[in-house]
Amino acid sequence: MKFAVTSKGDQKSNILSHKIRTYLQDFELEYDEDQPDIVVSVGGDGTLLYAFHRYRSRLDKTAFVGIHTGHLGFYADWVPEEIEKLVIAIAKTPYQTIEYPLLEVMIRYHHGGKEAWMLALNEATVKSVEGTMVMDVDIRGEHFERFRGDGLCVSTPSGSTAYNKALGGAILHPSIPAIQLAEMASINNKVFRTIGSPLILPSHHTCTLKPVSGPDFLVTVDHLTQLHKDVKAIQFRVATERVRFARFRPFPFWKRVHDSFISDERG
Ligand code: NAD
Repeated sequence: MKFAVTSKGDQKSNILSHKIRTYLQDFELEYDEDQPDIVVSVGGDGTLLYAFHRYRSRLDKTAFVGIHTGHLGFYADWVPEEIEKLVIAIAKTPYQTIEYPLLEVMIRYHHGGKEAWMLALNEATVKSVEGTMVMDVDIRGEHFERFRGDGLCVSTPSGSTAYNKALGGAILHPSIPAIQLAEMASINNKVFRTIGSPLILPSHHTCTLKPVSGPDFLVTVDHLTQLHKDVKAIQFRVATERVRFARFRPFPFWKRVHDSFISDERG
């Protein structure tokens, strides 16, 4: 089996990454940064997001596992004290994987240039470069509303505990193949109206944003931000690709939600 290790880059994560690499090589696993079967991410959720995008083209062949060197992460749920246990589990046991849904983002441009296609593990957000963002929101090809406000966030189920949660979105179990659309400070008064609630769309529905004012937007995909000019439409749907996490012990989603947001002690 071939493996790679990604590090957050701080001293603690680098030392730990080096240890993991040496231990796994001691077990005669091959280090292969380009074509790993398993990627061990050391740092936090941001490091795992980075690893996800680094290996995006081989998601069907690569499984991820995350260790956190800071606070408990959602994807990075192993602690540094457990690395010997983790290394033995990787080297000696045929591990199980669990799969989570992803978000597909497609951006079309007025000038007819090539469409941009992206995958998000957490979410994509769209904000205008200047002033209020005005967008027509179509759902499944039908006009739904005209949105005015700061922006819109479309998240995956596993990303529902990230930015989406801060916007008042629901937490969605990752066994549900769906995407969630959440508003960022919509303008609602007697003249302008949006639904005001987060919407959850199933895998056979699309959500398309069509600019009404100004064709330039800041689009984030997970930790990455890009300026897109001359945008005609941005379409979101549940991707056909999925992300795979290697599981060596049970750590149910709702327990992770509890430990991350309520308390990681019993009671
Ligand atoms: P960062 O360093 O600003 O960290 C963001 C925080 O989000 C970290 O505490 C991380 O552990 C947590 N996080 C990431 N994914 C999560 C998930 N799926 N569930 C629960 N918590 C999660 O940024 P970063 O590390 O580069 O991560 C980028 C992510 O930051 C984005 O994908 C977005 O979800 C999140 N973000 C959140 C807000 C907000 O909550 N207001 C604003 C911007 C970005």
